Amino acid sequence: MSTEHSTPNASPSTNRFDAIVVGAGPAGSSASFTLARKGFKVLMIDRGRRAGTKNMYGGRVYSEPLEAIFPSLRKDAPVHRWVKAERLSFVSDEGLTSIEYRGGESKSFTTYLPELVNWMRAKAEEAGALVATEVRVDRLVVEKEKVIGVQAGPDTVYADTVIDAEGVNRLLLEGAWQMNVPRQEDLAIGLKETIKLDAERVNQRFGLEDEGMAWILLGSVTRYIPGGAFVYTNRDSVSIGLVLFLSHAVKRTNGHISRLLEDFRLHPKLKHLWRDGELLEYSAKLVPEYWRGFMPRRLSGAGLLVVGDAAGVLLNNGMTIRGVDLAAYSGYLAAETFTKAHAEGDFTSEMLSAYGRRVEESFIGRELRKHNGLEYIRRNPHFFDQYPRLVNSGLGRIFNIGLESPTIWKALRGAQKDVGPDAWTAIKDMYKIGRTL
Ligand SMILES: Cc1cc2nc3c(=O)[nH]c(=O)nc-3n(C[C@H](O)[C@H](O)[C@H](O)COP(=O)(O)OP(=O)(O)OC[C@H]3O[C@@H](n4cnc5c(N)ncnc54)[C@H](O)[C@@H]3O)c2cc1C
Repeated sequence: MSTEHSTPNASPSTNRFDAIVVGAGPAGSSASFTLARKGFKVLMIDRGRRAGTKNMYGGRVYSEPLEAIFPSLRKDAPVHRWVKAERLSFVSDEGLTSIEYRGGESKSFTTYLPELVNWMRAKAEEAGALVATEVRVDRLVVEKEKVIGVQAGPDTVYADTVIDAEGVNRLLLEGAWQMNVPRQEDLAIGLKETIKLDAERVNQRFGLEDEGMAWILLGSVTRYIPGGAFVYTNRDSVSIGLVLFLSHAVKRTNGHISRLLEDFRLHPKLKHLWRDGELLEYSAKLVPEYWRGFMPRRLSGAGLLVVGDAAGVLLNNGMTIRGVDLAAYSGYLAAETFTKAHAEGDFTSEMLSAYGRRVEESFIGRELRKHNGLEYIRRNPHFFDQYPRLVNSGLGRIFNIGLESPTIWKALRGAQKDVGPDAWTAIKDMYKIGRTL
């Protein structure tokens, strides 16, 4: 196994470590950083050419959980723009309606995930972790029901505990625990393009002064397939993309799914925003959408802790996607659990099960449980079809007047009769939205 870098407290010739972390994404890097800082011998392995090259997301990171792990984040992290503008739009053939919020203080920022992950990797290395890239782990090595190391090609390396941060395609975990392949209903498919524009044009087209905008769009932008579209402004580019619930996307997409993203980029009401931009990147990845379905029955076993997307700790409530910060914080909690286990010299499943409880009791568990009703919204396609059309049809009636104008009530009632849903369903849905989001 070759290592990209070597560090004082873990030499490449060693084949025994305190902890091995598989995956150098947000979850793995924060676990490695936290452990290395405490003086543990840590090996972090990633199959990418460099840390960050395999990591993909939409565009915005919530900072507070990360600042708790990396105190220098505000000073030296590769932040593109602090998000101060939030926009939510309903798009349909009838029109486009947006709600916009502009605040002073910001608790989230846009960045390129590969840059952020590489920064986290550097922090872990500075703290003493050994990082091996271009190495694909083939399997977790299990002996007497305890994970004792990992195998990559002809090499086996051993550790008291392996932290599985392999992301949503958790092949290693499925192999070790003989888990079922995840259901389509528990996953979403994410597609993304990054379009280069100079900073001045980003500012001018989105009405910004170097701050960031996070924009979620629902309706015809996904061809009414349940899910949403996003736009994030970076320093000198915009990230645009779609997150679609996989079970609906599979049923309702004819042809290649990337055509949907192309349609979004070429949408007549939006395309002027990135006109003359240069396409920098196209990527696609699965998202663990419904945590109750995707999360493994347990987050630990003897010698094993599961973090990040592999553990299903992601929240997409339609207005915010929180994957990076939750993944990073779960990595931190795993490192804290390992520290306690190391002090006791006990890496049994009982000892490490404290990690699952820590996740449950932390803001991660509270956030996931609080938004549990999202399942109701995901299962009701009219949130992504009839409501965007209802809003635009209603407002169209209010604003496009001839000789006489309708009352707001009449306009909405007319729109509701045209596009639905029925009044009782609408009342029930509004109540659910209010309680869930
Ligand atoms: C389209 C889209 C939009 C999103 N938007 C946002 C957003 O705006 N904000 C947000 O916070 N979150 C967002 N997310 C979610 C976010 O990307 C993830 O939650 C987050 O990256 C999870 O981090 P992770 O470290 O668990 O996994 P990953 O980032 O997937 O990292 C896993 C790492 O493990 C490595 N690996 C896997 N298997 C092996 C192996 N066998 N051997 C060696 N290495 C291996 C991979 O190379 C990879 O580097 C989005 C996701 C998608 C798909």
